[in-house]
Amino acid sequence: MPSPTSRQLANWDHQYLWHPFTQMKEWTEAPPLIIDRGEGPYLIDNQGKQYLDGVSSLWVNIHGHRHPAIDQAIRRQLNKIAHSTLLGLSSPPAIQLARELVKIAPPGLTRVFYSDDGSTAVEVALKMAVQYWQQTTPAMPSKTHFVHMRLSYHGDTAGGMSIGGIELFHNRFQPLLFPTLAVDAPYCYRCPLQQTFPSCQIACLDQLESLLTARHHDIAAVVVEPLVQGVAGMITAPSGHLSRIRELCTQHQVLMVADEVATGFGRTGRMFACEHESITPDLLAVAKGLTGGYLPLAATLVTEEMYQAFLGDYHEGKTLFHGHSFTGNALGCAAALANLQIFRTEHTLRNVQKRIPALQRHLQALTSLQHVGDIRQSGYMVGIELVKDQKNRIPFPLTDRMGHKVTMECQRKGLLIRPIGNVLVLMPPLSAEVKHLKKMATILKESICIVTEPKKKKAPL
Ligand SMILES: *Cc1c(COP(=O)(O)O)cnc(C)c1O
Repeated sequence: MPSPTSRQLANWDHQYLWHPFTQMKEWTEAPPLIIDRGEGPYLIDNQGKQYLDGVSSLWVNIHGHRHPAIDQAIRRQLNKIAHSTLLGLSSPPAIQLARELVKIAPPGLTRVFYSDDGSTAVEVALKMAVQYWQQTTPAMPSKTHFVHMRLSYHGDTAGGMSIGGIELFHNRFQPLLFPTLAVDAPYCYRCPLQQTFPSCQIACLDQLESLLTARHHDIAAVVVEPLVQGVAGMITAPSGHLSRIRELCTQHQVLMVADEVATGFGRTGRMFACEHESITPDLLAVAKGLTGGYLPLAATLVTEEMYQAFLGDYHEGKTLFHGHSFTGNALGCAAALANLQIFRTEHTLRNVQKRIPALQRHLQALTSLQHVGDIRQSGYMVGIELVKDQKNRIPFPLTDRMGHKVTMECQRKGLLIRPIGNVLVLMPPLSAEVKHLKKMATILKESICIVTEPKKKKAPL
C-alpha cells in the first residue's frame, strides 16, 4: 500500500478522527499539524518543519524522542514477546520494573500494582483505599470519602473526575460522580484567603485540619498532587504544604495518596516531588513519564502495611478485584526499565538540577512584559499566567483565548506548547539543554509580546 500523501492525511484526519479535549468544529476549519517524526527535543511534521517539544508531548517525554537505549529496549523485548497477561502469569520485565520502582520510590513503598495510564493508577488507589479500611476497621463502615484540593486534576475516568476540581472539565458529568470533600488549593498568586506566604503559615491547610478533625471516621484518604497542581495551571505549593498534609493524615488516621502522574520521574528536579519534603505517601500513583513517554503504562505503589491488609484466605474476600487487559504490558515495562537506566547512565537528575537555574534566568526576561502576571516554576514544570491587568491581577476573559493565541504564535515560530486557559505551560523534556530552554523562553517572550501587546497605532501623519 503506498503511503498516503499529506493532503490525504489531512483530509482523513478531518473525516475520521475525533481529537481529545478539542472542539472539532474549529479543528476541521484549519489543516491539522501532523507530526511524522521526532528527534531529541524536536518534533518534525510531515512537511519537514521542526518544532521544539515544549510540553514533552503532553508531559510524558523524558529523555527526548528516539532515544537509542529505549528504542533498543523495545526492539529487544519485541523479539521475545509484546504482551502476556499478569492475571495468573508473570513476566521478566514486569518483575524487574517493580523491583526498580521500589528502589527509587520514597522509602516505605514496597509494592507495585500496574495499570495503563494516570487515570487508572488513581482509580486503583481509590479502590485500594476504600477496601483497606473495610478490611482493617470494619467498625467504621463510612471511611469511604475522599478529600482533594480545589482545582485538582486526577484523570478523566469517573473516580478521577469525582476528586477533580476543574469546572470546565468536570461539572457536566456531575450526575456520574460520587460526592467528595474539597479544600482550597495553595494558589498563592490568587490566595483564596487573601494572605501571603510565609506569613500565612499555610493557613489554607487549616481547612484540611478542621475537616480531618471533624470527619476522619468518614474519610478514606486525602489525594494530592505533590508540589505542583499541573492542570490547575501549574499551581506550585509553598514549601511545607506537602509535609503538613502528611502530618495531618498521619495524625487523623487517614491515608495519603500522592498523585505524581505529572510530577514523577524528575520533572520537579527530584525523581519524585515527595522527596522535596522527605515524605512517603501511603499510596503513590505514577504514569506519564514512567516509560520515558514511549508507551502507556502506569503503576500504583503502596506501603507494606497497605499490602498486608489484603492478605488472607481466598474465602475471606480480601482479594483486590481489579486489573486491565494490558496490565504490566511487557513492551511498556521494557521501555520503563530503559528509562530508569538512562536516569543513571546519563545522570539526568544532576543535569536537570544544573539547568534549572538557567531556565529560571531565561524566564525572568518574561517578567518585563505587561501582561505576564505570574511565573510559577518547579524544576522543568513552568506555568506563565497571562493577565489583562498586571497590577490588579485581573485575568483576561477566557473567551479572549489569549493562551490559545500565544500558542498558535509559538507554533509559527517553531515551539509546540499547549495552554490551560490563560496559563501557558512549558514542560521541556528533561534532556532539553540550556540552548533549547533559551530558545523556548525567547519564542515565548516574542509570542506573548505579539499577541498581548500588538503594535500601537502609528501617529497620523
Ligand atoms: C495527566 C494526569 C492524570 C491522568 O493521566 P492520564 O494518563 O491522562 O490518564 C492524573 N493525574 C495527574 C496529576 C495528571 O497530570
